[in-house]
Amino acid sequence: MAVILDGKQIAEKIRQEIKTETQKVIADNNKKPGLAVVIVGEDPASSIYVRNKEKAANEVGFFSVVERLEDTVTQEELLQVVKRLNQNDEIHGILVQLPLPKHIDEKEIINAIDYRKDVDGFHPLNAGALMVGDKGLVSCTPKGCIRLIKETGIEISGKKAVVVGRSNIVGKPVALLLLQESATVTICHSRTKDLAAELAAADIVVAAVGVPNLVKGAMIKEGAVVIDVGINRLEDGKLCGDVEFEEASKKAGYITPVPGGVGPLTIAMLLQNTLEAYKMAEIKL
Ligand code: NDP
Repeated sequence: MAVILDGKQIAEKIRQEIKTETQKVIADNNKKPGLAVVIVGEDPASSIYVRNKEKAANEVGFFSVVERLEDTVTQEELLQVVKRLNQNDEIHGILVQLPLPKHIDEKEIINAIDYRKDVDGFHPLNAGALMVGDKGLVSCTPKGCIRLIKETGIEISGKKAVVVGRSNIVGKPVALLLLQESATVTICHSRTKDLAAELAAADIVVAAVGVPNLVKGAMIKEGAVVIDVGINRLEDGKLCGDVEFEEASKKAGYITPVPGGVGPLTIAMLLQNTLEAYKMAEIKL
């Protein structure tokens, strides 16, 4: 049976470390790390995510603001909010909660965020830095996936990793991070002919698809590390991942549950990125 990678517990440990470091940097610089979260509209899932981010930021001692805007906000008004936050010296990290309403050009908004405050790592300059291996802010969920894999103590270098999903926010960056760690990486997507054949040799699996139980237990290699990013709500209201958890647990060496796996790490990495952005701005690291 697989060891369950308890994301909640690991994230809690990271948050404690961030809290301790935050106290130190505040004492040294007389200024708190500041995180601004912008939310447009009343989407229930987004509202929960934003509340959790605000709570987590307050708990580690950050200055935290949430800008709540009506879903009738115009592109220009939203751009002005971002610009104002860019210029605010108290704010080191800016996160615009996605998805945005259909009438808003999401790309233009993300590109307007000062890349040094882009704690989601979605700005093309940060995505590009990851591509060429330069220092930059790395998006939170992919960063959390790597942290979870490292928690197993298993060496990533030389391993065969299969990432299922090629989105800009999870699949692609997680594949690049695995490559940076010297894994041999395969990226699968909706046109992949034989997912089972690709997964059969995978020492590390990262599933970021959004299809409940797409990755079957039978597809998992004996002893593999399985990271399930998917968050899917079933008809009975329960959450499940992209991996068939029970069956995969019988074959995997390590596996993340949903919920309680990758999700808590995403928030912990957001705090880490905010602290990093603070240090770059205030201590010029
Ligand atoms: P997207 O919808 O942007 O991307 C999904 C990817 O899965 C696409 O690349 C798509 O391929 C691929 N795909 C779809 N169907 C199949 C299939 N049958 N076989 C193989 N690949 C397939 O999703 P995201 O990357 O944004 O999110 C993925 C999941 O992760 C979602 O459940 C989301 O809720 C969750 N998530 C969780 C987070 C967390 O903090 N835990 C954070 C972010 C996301 P193609 O490109 O060909 O269409």
